[in-house]
Parts: sequence; C-alpha cells; structure tokens
Amino acid sequence: MEEFAKRVHDPYYQPQLAPTTVPGDSLSDRVWVPGPVIVGGGPSGLAVAACLKNQGVRHALILEQTNCIAPLWKMKTYDRLCLHLPKQFCQLPLMPFPKDFPTYPTKQQFLSYLEAYAKKFDLKPVFNTTVVRVEYDRGCGLWRVKTKTIEYVSRWVIVATGENAEEVVPKFEGMNEFTGPILHTSSYKSGEGFKNKKVLVVGCGNSGMEVCLDLCNYNAYPSLVVRDSLHVLPQEMFGRSTFGVSMWLLKYFPVRIVDGFLLLASRFMIGDTDKLGLSRPKLGPLELKNLGPLELKNVAGKTPVLDVGTLAKIRSGDIKVFPGIKRLACNNVEFVDGRIEKFDAIILATGYRSNVTTWLKDTNLFSEKDGFPMEPFPEGWKGESGLYAVGFTKRGLLGTSIDAVRIAEDIARQWNINMKLIY
Ligand SMILES: Cc1cc2nc3c(=O)[nH]c(=O)nc-3n(C[C@H](O)[C@H](O)[C@H](O)COP(=O)(O)OP(=O)(O)OC[C@H]3O[C@@H](n4cnc5c(N)ncnc54)[C@H](O)[C@@H]3O)c2cc1C
Repeated sequence: MEEFAKRVHDPYYQPQLAPTTVPGDSLSDRVWVPGPVIVGGGPSGLAVAACLKNQGVRHALILEQTNCIAPLWKMKTYDRLCLHLPKQFCQLPLMPFPKDFPTYPTKQQFLSYLEAYAKKFDLKPVFNTTVVRVEYDRGCGLWRVKTKTIEYVSRWVIVATGENAEEVVPKFEGMNEFTGPILHTSSYKSGEGFKNKKVLVVGCGNSGMEVCLDLCNYNAYPSLVVRDSLHVLPQEMFGRSTFGVSMWLLKYFPVRIVDGFLLLASRFMIGDTDKLGLSRPKLGPLELKNLGPLELKNVAGKTPVLDVGTLAKIRSGDIKVFPGIKRLACNNVEFVDGRIEKFDAIILATGYRSNVTTWLKDTNLFSEKDGFPMEPFPEGWKGESGLYAVGFTKRGLLGTSIDAVRIAEDIARQWNINMKLIY
C-alpha cells in the first residue's frame, strides 16, 4: 500500500489509466481509481461527474447503492409530483431542459431529462454498490472507499448521497396499536387506494401539503397535522414564480425587505394563513432559508412551502388541520389539544435525513449531529485532503449545480497540474 501511495503522488504515474486493481496488493478486491470517487448516483452525482468530464478530468467513478440513477425520483415519489420550482432553476449544469417541457416538468419528464443527461455525458454508475465506510488514510494520503466487497482507493471523494438519504419516521405512543396502515410519503404513489377513507397526513412541508391535495382528488378525507409555524407562499406572483421574483429582488434589496414584500404579496393573494391554523414564524421566509440546519432547529418555523392548491381545500373544509399528535390507539388519534378523531390510515410526510455520518469517518466537513456540512451555503462544498460535498445546500437542484461546477473546477486545477508534469 505504501509503495502504491508513493506511485500515486509520482507525477510520472499515469492517472489517465482506467481503474485497475492495486499492483502488488495482496487484496485482489482493492481498486485504484485515477479520478474522483463519487458516492451517490442521483442528480448531484451525475451533475458533478458531467462537470468533471467537461473539465477534462477522466475516470471519475460513481457508486450507487440501487440499480438505477436517481432512485429518489424513480421509486420514492408520488405520481402527481412536478418540480416545485420552474425548470430554469432545476436544470443541471451544461444541459438545459428541452424547450417543449412545461415550466414545472413532471416527475416522468424530469427522469427522462436525467436519463438523457447520463447518456450525453456517458455516465455509467456502478449500480448495486453501497458504500459502507470511507476514511482518509493519512499514511498514504489517499481515501479508502469501502463497499461490501471492494475497496476503492482515490485521491478525491465526492459525497453525493443527498439530503434525503433516509426516511425520518417519528415514534408515537401507541403506534403499534393503530389498526390502519402507517406509511411514509416515500411509499405513497397516489390517493387511489384511499377513496372514502379518513387519512391523517403528518407534516406540512411541500410533500404533506401536496399529498393532502392528491387525497382530496381521489375522494378521500384528509387531515393535516401542523405542529410548527410555517410560511406558505403562492407558487407564483404577478405571473412569475415566487422563487424567481425573490431571486430578482435579492439582487437589489436586503433579505428583510424582500421578506416583507413576499409576506405582503402573499397576504394579498392567499389571505391570512393564521386563520387556517397555519401560523407564520417570526422570521421571514428567506431569513429562515438562510439559516443552517442546526440554527434552524433553534428557531420556531420551517423553510417556506409553495402552495399548489392545498390552501383552498383547507379554506373550504375539505382538508382539516390538527395540532401535534399525543398518542395513537386502535383507529383513534389523540391530539395535543385533547381532541380525539378516528382515522383509517396515517401518512408520514415527516421528511428525510442525511446518512453521511453512518459511513464517512473522521472528517471535519460534515457535522456528526445531522450529516450536513458544518459550514452553511455558500461554503460547505469543500473539506480537507480531497473531500467534497455536492447537494447539501438546502437549495435543491440549484444548489447542486453551484456545488458541482465549483468542485469540478477545483479538482481540475489539481488534475491539470499533474498532467502538465507528465507531458
Ligand atoms: C418529493 C420531493 C420533491 C422535490 N422537488 C424538488 C424540486 O422541485 N426542485 C428541487 O430543486 N429539488 C427538489 N427536491 C429536492 C431533491 O433533494 C433534489 O431534487 C435531488 O433529488 C437531490 O439530488 P441528490 O443527488 O443530491 O440526492 P438524491 O436524489 O437523494 O440522490 C442520492 C443518491 O445517493 C445514493 N446513496 C445514498 N447512500 C448511499 C451509499 N451509502 N452508497 C451508495 N449510494 C448511496 C442514493 O441511492 C441516491 O441515488 C425534491 C425532493 C423530494 C423528496
């Protein structure tokens, strides 16, 4: 291993070679990767791999635990899902969405775009390969990326396992006694099986709100648990996306002024959400969005939700709003305000968490507490000794693109120095 490491740092060693097993190593399942190892084959992994290729960095290796690209979108999202933000804010670097796609592409359109993206840049992840441990070997100055069967060795590791790697499933008293199904939104496809059923949706982020609307469309009777205060904003204002309007205003005005404007316009367009049981946090929507995940936990409120029609259904009484759950029993749910209601099913729209801390050892880039970079956006994409993070900005695919470009440029600088020394 030591001899091997010396060769890697030798400028005359040829890093343009395809992955090979480590020469002279007794372990036949240890593989040297000349380019970076990318953990995760979702949009972030694909984006950074494409940017690396574009910069001339060859032989990046994408390791993906499932058998397809973007499994979150393919397998864990509901049928009616469309991108929440307009397509120009969701496209990956170097390839815009097709012109004939609508402003908010459907899940199927987004997936076909990703397939085309992978094809265009000839990205071929190694599927069914779960990374179980990654650690930096200070002795030889290389990263050891372990899967169940193989150890990959590289100078660079790019973490692209996403903010949504694992479902968050809360524990409620009496959960085992509840007689109906309890499922996470990652298993919810449509309201088809819930016709005439009373369904409790726990969590009021974009997914929870949209699942309630979907259930209404399938003649179910949804109720929504709203525990925290939250900002609901209209998806569009003045014929443009609220996100686009905010981005434009932020070029000229400070966050507080833009927040004031967004709240005024929202009040005018969707009315007083407090009256519907959805109280607004003290901090404005963009102020909240700018907080890091740990700071966010210390304030009341959540990142803003874009309304796609759910508020109208709450106003009309088709969707009821309840406070937090106290306990479950048989088919009853008791809420913290003392009310008890019968439900046939519970859908947990309780979000996801990062899984980085379970497999990435001993680094100062990610927080042990929540598996997110310790530095909030726009920092947090680069650690020490060739470690990078893509797609952990809490800014969706726009954040992914910004990270991917930066990482590729940074690695390309190191790569090109090596190549100049060779030729
Ligand atoms: C319902 C829903 C709607 C959304 N809508 C939008 C939207 O409209 N606009 C937007 O910008 N964002 C949206 N998002 C945010 C979403 O996170 C991003 O769109 C995008 O999927 C992030 O890509 P990613 O590659 O970072 O993460 P993911 O798509 O989660 O990909 C991570 C990949 O890493 C793999 N992986 C995890 N652990 C390992 C391991 N140990 N070894 C190997 N592979 C591993 C996973 O299998 C997965 O393929 C939405 C999210 C959800 C859940």
